[in-house]
Amino acid sequence: MEISDFKETISNVAESVKSKSSEIFESTKIKFALSDAEGEVSKLMREIGRCVYESYKSGEEPDETIHENCEAIDAKYKEIEEMRSKLRGIKNISVCPECGAEISNESAFCNKCGAKLSE
Ligand SMILES: [Zn+2]
Repeated sequence: MEISDFKETISNVAESVKSKSSEIFESTKIKFALSDAEGEVSKLMREIGRCVYESYKSGEEPDETIHENCEAIDAKYKEIEEMRSKLRGIKNISVCPECGAEISNESAFCNKCGAKLSE
């Protein structure tokens, strides 16, 4: 083996190790961001509940913050969906068109509802 080939092999191995660990790093980062976003959503949900209750107590119309918080939740859900699909891309996972369960790209049938997946 030529020295230059040897160097090539080493750098290929290093490259694949690097990309594997950056995959793990990336998916861990996304998981943290996901649980952050989910925490945000439950905070907003509680805030909405509090507003509804306060308006019930005071007999006044619920104020605009409810609407704003609902929009903020929609935006968070969108972020969450984007992060989930990024994660699926990293982990080679797709979603069942029938029931929405997450399944490995290698399986032919959904293991939740049994639907046939793309051939
Ligand atoms: Zn399914």
